[in-house]
Amino acid sequence: MDFLMDLHTHTAFSPDSNAPAPEMCVRAHALGLSAYAITDHCEVNCWYEKSHYTPEQLVGFSEQYADLYAFDYARSYEQSVAEITRLKAEYAGKLNLLCGVELGQATADLEVSERIAADPRLDLIIGSLHQLAGEDDFAFIDYFRMTQAEIQALAGRYFNTLLEICRWGKFDVLGHLTYILRYIEGKYHLHVELSAFRDVIAECFTVLIGKGKGIEINTSGLRQSYGKTFPTLEYVRLYRDLGGEILTLGSDAHRPEDLATGIAEGTELARTAGFSHVTLFEKHQPHFVKI
Ligand SMILES: [Zn+2]
Ligand SMILES: [Zn+2]
Repeated sequence: MDFLMDLHTHTAFSPDSNAPAPEMCVRAHALGLSAYAITDHCEVNCWYEKSHYTPEQLVGFSEQYADLYAFDYARSYEQSVAEITRLKAEYAGKLNLLCGVELGQATADLEVSERIAADPRLDLIIGSLHQLAGEDDFAFIDYFRMTQAEIQALAGRYFNTLLEICRWGKFDVLGHLTYILRYIEGKYHLHVELSAFRDVIAECFTVLIGKGKGIEINTSGLRQSYGKTFPTLEYVRLYRDLGGEILTLGSDAHRPEDLATGIAEGTELARTAGFSHVTLFEKHQPHFVKI
């Protein structure tokens, strides 16, 4: 393949990665990536110390996951952006490194989200949703305790909150649409009747397209028990059929050995869905690259 991009990756400035950013860059360079973005987690609903929040605002508060609240997102964000900026200079002419962030739960704290959206150092913002207000991260919910109706209702809250995030829209691409399936289907082998949410997903796409925003094909599911991309071909095609043109590819790697895994399959899926180009960003300006 002539063009191999990976626009969704994490480093040790994310709470769930131990990979130093320089090691990720060494790997990205060795793979010959044409575009590589570091997009560390920025969960705006955990931006301040726990005492800042009312009990209703607190999420991810299970004692079991209390370390998530101990993680200093505000400090790590600054460290990540500073390190990527430094690495951009170090790799100038050798690696097209993009400075990105994965903005989690944007609508949970619009003041913080707006500030990050306006940061002139960023090339790319992925708008993601990992948890709902007052509820745990989807990764930490025990779905075996839920009835099928409760799982459907949770999925409904997930897609409706995504629609709110799309309407806010101050990001470049929507992150890993159908992320909840990583856990509900991939890990717990339970079912979500996605067809029930086709309309709200289509509405998300219509809003995104109207704002000139895109989606990503997140290939992490291909190396996990889910076995598919987020989202699958059906929804990439729906986005395309509704007029969507901006599409990125990301592995969601949290360690060097996962960098760019599944990107070739994701590119093929993009072609099958009717895309002739994928997109990369420079200071939020989309650049289209033929695939
Ligand atoms: Zn994510
Ligand atoms: Zn991620």
